[in-house]
Amino acid sequence: MYSTDAHGWSELLPAREPRPSLMGRHRVPWAVVGAGVTGLASARRLAELHPDEQIILLDARIIGQGASARSSGFAVAVSHFPGGFEAGQMPAYARVNRINQAGLDLLRTQVAAAGFDCQWHEQGLYHTAADRASIEECGHFLRYLETMEIDHTPLSAGDLGARLGTALYQAGVHVQLGALVQPAALVRGLADTLPPNVTLYEQSPILEIAKGAPLTLKLRDGEVCADRLLLATNYEAVKLGFLRRRLAGSTLSGSFTHVLTDEEFSGLGDLSEWGGLSLHSGGATVRLTKDRRICLRNTAEYNGSALLSEQQLAHRQRIHREAFTRRFPNLVHVPFEFAWSGVEGVSRNGTNFFGRQSENIYFAGGYNGSGISRGTAFGTALAEYASGGQSTLIDDCLASAPAAWIPPRPFLDLGASFAIRSRFRHAGQDR
Ligand SMILES: Cc1cc2nc3c(=O)[nH]c(=O)nc-3n(C[C@H](O)[C@H](O)[C@H](O)COP(=O)(O)OP(=O)(O)OC[C@H]3O[C@@H](n4cnc5c(N)ncnc54)[C@H](O)[C@@H]3O)c2cc1C
Repeated sequence: MYSTDAHGWSELLPAREPRPSLMGRHRVPWAVVGAGVTGLASARRLAELHPDEQIILLDARIIGQGASARSSGFAVAVSHFPGGFEAGQMPAYARVNRINQAGLDLLRTQVAAAGFDCQWHEQGLYHTAADRASIEECGHFLRYLETMEIDHTPLSAGDLGARLGTALYQAGVHVQLGALVQPAALVRGLADTLPPNVTLYEQSPILEIAKGAPLTLKLRDGEVCADRLLLATNYEAVKLGFLRRRLAGSTLSGSFTHVLTDEEFSGLGDLSEWGGLSLHSGGATVRLTKDRRICLRNTAEYNGSALLSEQQLAHRQRIHREAFTRRFPNLVHVPFEFAWSGVEGVSRNGTNFFGRQSENIYFAGGYNGSGISRGTAFGTALAEYASGGQSTLIDDCLASAPAAWIPPRPFLDLGASFAIRSRFRHAGQDR
């Protein structure tokens, strides 16, 4: 039920001994379920707010196997809202960007304070356009950045080629705010440096939640009675009976090359590390990582909210390969060493989820592919909100639009496949 696999950013890191799974009966004031960026941020903030209280943090999998550690590692400060700049939406754009920035600031502080290496690289992010639709979108994006007075540098095809070492992109923008991370190293680092009043249990799926005061979390070999529960289970909240018809999983996949040799690396652009997000929603996310791998993600599909099988992944790798060759024709001989898939939580109208689900149960999640900085902010704000706090960040999170209704299966499968496939329409060279 909670499968993991051997393909991901975690597999690029040294082996790590997981924490034990939960056994027996526990009674605590606070339980947090889900140890991705949201749950880790919630648990950390609860521990700060309640230094004398015990917090139990549970994850169904080994740390580093959820979406956070399988992301592409872009900690975004400035969101791209596709489809044309609308002046009337400026307060909404600003609200989302305040949340992103709060998350990025929190992550930077936490990584620096804990002193672990997650290849933190805060030199801004590239937004790229290779084909007609994305070039048009680049114009909208520039207008948005200018009107919102966000620091950025418009780039020509020549500028992008010189920096990134690919002639594919015809236009683009460098946004000065934003960071890159090795996502599995980030998640592991955050999990391994939690405050002492947080106890983390791995491979401990919650099978059922019995509501009440206190509520009871039921596991295979034990149970946790807690006064309050913060759920940070992303799209899997649905399995526990929350947000049905509101939240679903979209499965993405990508590949990494081997570590480039000096010769392969020297044929690239001026930058030794960079990350590019496509201005087309179906376009590829591409990175040159600190350890000199090229990483490219360009598929998304509805796969019943599950990771891809070995066979599916091998098939998707052909799509990654085509995109890689288009960008780096001089590196066609460079093999892919890993492929990976991950499932992101999506809503039909692209909103996020934050708030109280019932008397003593709170939830944050579902960030539609942009959750590293935002999830950190949402998780932190959720801990404060559940503790009775008030802040601009909480108000910003609470202002997320209500989620649109998702039809049941089999319409869900059809509708989701259609919606996800339509994201690739006119992706052309950007894919
Ligand atoms: C391939 C891919 C690339 C992405 N790239 C980016 C990117 O570059 N930048 C960006 O900002 N976002 C990106 N995203 C989105 C981002 O990864 C997510 O929005 C974010 O990580 C969600 O964080 P989370 O903590 O809410 O959820 P998750 O990281 O999914 O954590 C939820 C955790 O809950 C646990 N869980 C679930 N059910 C139970 C249960 N019953 N009992 C116990 N534990 C349970 C899971 O095991 C999991 O570890 C990407 C997503 C994918 C899949």
